[in-house]
Amino acid sequence: MAYDKQNIFAKILRGEMPCIKVYEDKYTLAFMDIMPQADGHTLVIPKVEAETLFELPNSYYGPCFETLKKVGNALKKAFNTEGVMMFQLSGEQAGQTVPHLHFHLLPSSIQTLRNTRHAAEMADQEKLKEIAQRIVDALEE
Ligand code: 5GP
Repeated sequence: MAYDKQNIFAKILRGEMPCIKVYEDKYTLAFMDIMPQADGHTLVIPKVEAETLFELPNSYYGPCFETLKKVGNALKKAFNTEGVMMFQLSGEQAGQTVPHLHFHLLPSSIQTLRNTRHAAEMADQEKLKEIAQRIVDALEE
């Protein structure tokens, strides 16, 4: 299927919709998930039109994982934990709801997720901004 240029993450990348950003470089953007399954639930997306892991150009794999490592380390610091969970859903059949590739990163264990139901409950924006600032501070340390 053709990439849907109107998906919400494409709009965020074009600056047409807001997001609470924690990190950005030439290839990737990291921002807070608006329906977090744990405090600190962050999404990392590539700045390229790719719906799933299987459309991602090979040259983006490295940059995506570099960002996952950077932000993951910041989550460890900001939440004072050694445990960081990463997941990625490719395809509707896997439960993907936004058709732009994204990696979920959470300072949580699978047992302590707030909602086992994915993308279920909107977070308070002010609380999300506070948490984002903690992550930004940890990235800058
Ligand atoms: P998926 O189900 O595709 O793996 O994950 C999509 C994620 O995007 C969900 O965790 C959901 O909470 C999040 N999400 C959906 N719409 C928005 C949005 O407009 N902004 C942000 N920041 N996250 C979103």
